[in-house]
Amino acid sequence: MVDPDCIFCKIAGGEIDAEMVHEEEDIVAFKDINGQAPTHVLVIPRSHVPNLEAMADLPDSVAKRLLEVSSEVAGKLGVDQSGYAVRINNGPDAGQEVFHLHLHVLGGRKLGMP
Ligand code: 5GP
Ligand code: ZN
Repeated sequence: MVDPDCIFCKIAGGEIDAEMVHEEEDIVAFKDINGQAPTHVLVIPRSHVPNLEAMADLPDSVAKRLLEVSSEVAGKLGVDQSGYAVRINNGPDAGQEVFHLHLHVLGGRKLGMP
């Protein structure tokens, strides 16, 4: 499913440019426009799922694959040995700004808990 008003649906569909790091049938990964670390990539399902509460709308294989792709992206960008964080901001207290589920892959510096 695609939401025509969603910026990440537009990126996944190639309607808005982003620096792609990985593309496959159901998932894309691209650099965050406002990187918070030397490596900051967003991994998203192509299908529009707003948050973790709607994860049931994703096939289990895609949900699992989001984590695998996060690891693959970390390896591709060379932060798998030094370490990295995979983070989902879900809802207002977490500061979620884009309501299309995305995993932040952050690395290249020491990362603490917020
Ligand atoms: P969150 O919703 O988890 O708080 O974060 C949304 C993230 O999406 C932010 O880190 C923000 O910089 C990033 N972002 C928002 N709009 C765009 C965009 O148009 N392109 C890219 N590459 N990243 C974006
Ligand atoms: Zn979307």
